[in-house]
Amino acid sequence: MHFTRIRLQGFKSFVDQTELSIAPGLTGVVGPNGCGKSNLLEALRWVMGENRPTAMRGGGMEDVIFAGASSRPARNFAEVTLQLDNSDRLAPPGFNDSDVLEIVRRITRDVGSAYKTNGKDARARDVQMLFADASTGAHSPALVRQGQIAELINAKPKARRRILEEAAGISGLYQRRHEAELKLRGAETNLARVEDVTESLQ
Ligand code: ATP
Repeated sequence: MHFTRIRLQGFKSFVDQTELSIAPGLTGVVGPNGCGKSNLLEALRWVMGENRPTAMRGGGMEDVIFAGASSRPARNFAEVTLQLDNSDRLAPPGFNDSDVLEIVRRITRDVGSAYKTNGKDARARDVQMLFADASTGAHSPALVRQGQIAELINAKPKARRRILEEAAGISGLYQRRHEAELKLRGAETNLARVEDVTESLQ
């Protein structure tokens, strides 16, 4: 499973629809200062479910929407579409019924984010899990931003461990464990309530 195409519209400086094909192997993005290299990398993280505005260099999630320029009004929404080649059928169950997988994330002012996978509405969690399981999540070490190598060298062991876990494709398991623990706690609370009721009836 690998990225084949990315389409941006109204995302940061990419106000007009821009489509790029991604060849297999290592991809480098080069260009003059301020041309949008980091914005492109952020678009990739964002479509994979990144939800921290700071990771998008913004104060709020709506900051990813084109904010306007001297000659162009601001946009009302931003949309990024990521296409993946799934001919090896490595996508997790639920996403694995076609050779091409298309993920769309759109954010509309005052409405929020919505996702689609192959044209069907999807939950943020499902998209995040899909990429976490495929070891290419929004925090993936496969996306190297400026200054990240120096950060890695200076990182504390705990932070380095998180990077290795993401590379090994097990970070999705932590999210599932967290959700399972929440359910377990809910069940325990219900059980305690049942015991209280039973006691009061005896
Ligand atoms: P450098 O090499 O200097 O880091 P870069 O190629 O990585 O630059 P980016 O940081 O990706 O460039 O792009 C910066 C440009 O994007 C700036 O001109 C900034 O005004 C523009 N930009 C960022 N967010 C928005 C937004 N929401 N609306 C419009 N333009 C934006």
